[in-house]
Amino acid sequence: RAGASMEPASTEGQSDPPVRGVADRVVGVLGGGQLGKMLCQAASQMGIKVAILDPLKDCPANSVCHEHVVGSFNDGVAVREFAKRCDVLTVEIEHVDAVALEKLEKQGVVCEPKASAITIIQDKYRQKGHFSKFGIPMADFVEVDTLSSIEKAGEIFGYPLMVKSKRLAYDGRGNAVAHDKNELSSVVSSLGGFEHGLYVERWTPFAKELSVIVARSRDGCTVCYPVVETIHKDNICHLVEAPAQIPEKMKKLATSVAEKAIKSLEGAGVFAVELFLTNDNQVLLNEVAPRPHNSGHHTIEACYTSQYEQHLRAILGLPLGDPAMKAPAAIMYNILGEDEGDSGFVLAHQLIKRALNIPGASVHWYAKPEIRKQRKMGHITIVGPSMFDVKAHLDRLLQRDTDGPK
Ligand code: ATP
Ligand code: MG
Ligand code: MG
Repeated sequence: RAGASMEPASTEGQSDPPVRGVADRVVGVLGGGQLGKMLCQAASQMGIKVAILDPLKDCPANSVCHEHVVGSFNDGVAVREFAKRCDVLTVEIEHVDAVALEKLEKQGVVCEPKASAITIIQDKYRQKGHFSKFGIPMADFVEVDTLSSIEKAGEIFGYPLMVKSKRLAYDGRGNAVAHDKNELSSVVSSLGGFEHGLYVERWTPFAKELSVIVARSRDGCTVCYPVVETIHKDNICHLVEAPAQIPEKMKKLATSVAEKAIKSLEGAGVFAVELFLTNDNQVLLNEVAPRPHNSGHHTIEACYTSQYEQHLRAILGLPLGDPAMKAPAAIMYNILGEDEGDSGFVLAHQLIKRALNIPGASVHWYAKPEIRKQRKMGHITIVGPSMFDVKAHLDRLLQRDTDGPK
């Protein structure tokens, strides 16, 4: 089926097979984690078949996909074989074999977003270089490959200094902070040395972190979701507040930076743009993801079209849906593993039990085979009539004293 026409199947011609789903094409997703699972759930609602490629037999998407091919999305041979059973290939993780995708594209296989976008994004240093060419505002950054080059960067950028791995980064794994010159060599070793590629960024003392999900259709139209605030703890997304409680002017600026960044990349789908809002009202780009994103989980319950449905619409050449919020306010809380093994499950279960008693709260449990500390195990979205209300519900969920100091 690889390379098959992406034109919508006609219902007029006698010889055309009837369309059984909203689109009668098989979507192939590289990766079967929680994002893949939620893509499958949106596809199921529309009768769209999704095949996933993931090495884990019991990965989260396994229970909801149409077909699970057990194999690595990093292995060109596996990706090529997988493509044969799909009409359009997409990703739920950027750490895939992008060279294989590029080759497949040359043979006519439809990849959305394009392999070029994934190639740029999966190397965070290359990504920064790309966006700086397009005039996107960002914190200063420079590649480092020796102790003397990182020391020089430290002198120029000052401390704390953010040191980042170019590749395979997620949930802050791949980032380390040096507080002074003496910490540089241990920070570099904690990231595995210079061999795998490191760069540094000037520390950004941001007022807030924001995120904008931008969707682009196959014919190049873009729509943006309302700006959200993301609150991180130990480099991992902890909470998402939608909409962000910032002035309209700042929302417009964040949206325009995000849209400009995505317009510089090729392909259809949803993209997430992580941003910093500084104390002097600048908006700086942190990084981009070429796929649905943690900062868009709330769109399932809080928006007319979820980011997952939107991604499917976009990559299949269907009309884009309305990204607007249908509830005035939403908060998304990530359930992270608090402990390994059974006690971790007990703690998560206690939280879920409380959530089930909170009006407007929806529980998503990814059913990962194992629980590990700081691992994303599920999330809870609370929607309500105001940010005040959903925050009060969150306090109840987390058993915080709503009257006490925050
Ligand atoms: P993700 O899980 O979003 O892919 P990641 O591992 O790629 O994350 P980053 O997004 O680079 O990591 O950074 C994680 C967090 O670290 C950011 O959300 C932010 O809170 C903080 N951070 C990153 N870069 C800087 C910076 N230059 N200055 C200050 N804080 C930063
Ligand atoms: Mg990242
Ligand atoms: Mg990030």
